[in-house]
Amino acid sequence: RRWIADEWNDTTATLTGDQAVHLARVLRAQAGQVFDVVAGGFLRRAEITSVGEREVVFSLGEELEMDASLPVHLLMAVFKFDHLEWGLEKATELGAARITPVLARRTEKHLAQAAAKRVERWRKIVREAAQQSRRSDVPVVDDPLVLKLVVPTVEATTKLLLAETEQENSLSSVLASQPVSELAMAIGPEGGWAPDEMKLFDESGWRAVTLGPRILRAETAAIAALAVCGALL
Ligand code: SAM
Repeated sequence: RRWIADEWNDTTATLTGDQAVHLARVLRAQAGQVFDVVAGGFLRRAEITSVGEREVVFSLGEELEMDASLPVHLLMAVFKFDHLEWGLEKATELGAARITPVLARRTEKHLAQAAAKRVERWRKIVREAAQQSRRSDVPVVDDPLVLKLVVPTVEATTKLLLAETEQENSLSSVLASQPVSELAMAIGPEGGWAPDEMKLFDESGWRAVTLGPRILRAETAAIAALAVCGALL
């Protein structure tokens, strides 16, 4: 298992909070044990130098090769939190590098209002999913933003909008037909994208793609899309 440092400098890394409690109490870690620790985005071999109630300190050793996440930035419309959170966990396991929760026109109002208070929980979910799936990096989860502010600013070289209304272009055919170095993909809310949002995507250089003829739940669409990316990127 890999641990993700909460604090670090050139020579030491420290786990605090739940990770430290788990390591100290459940795994009964002791000074001298060696683990892999992600510190500042680098994977390092690390030896425990001290174990406290809520703090485990490591001395950092050699740098290890990282397994890369997919170069995928997901824009996920905010939808029912339990479904969204499951989707965030799975998107992390499947390798998404960055996730921006977006407030779309058809995001339910009470969810849009509550989203900002939920984002720390979302960061915790992806952090734990990254550890569980042995990723060496944790996806960035941005603060939730209104869709129309985000869409024109995304800078990926390939920008794809997942839309169940699209009939022609499939995600797999688009990815197979061109080299993709940075991909942004947008998944809509339960009610789908509104017409003015589709127009905005179009004007901002996003291309609509389909995952097939069936209408998928948003979280299923995220998982299916990332699985296709994993196979083709
Ligand atoms: N508007 C739809 C309806 O109620 O008929 C449902 C929207 S779907 C539950 C939520 C999101 O998942 C969509 O906005 C889209 O981004 C994505 N999605 C679902 N099925 C898809 C498909 N077959 N192809 C591409 N995207 C899909």
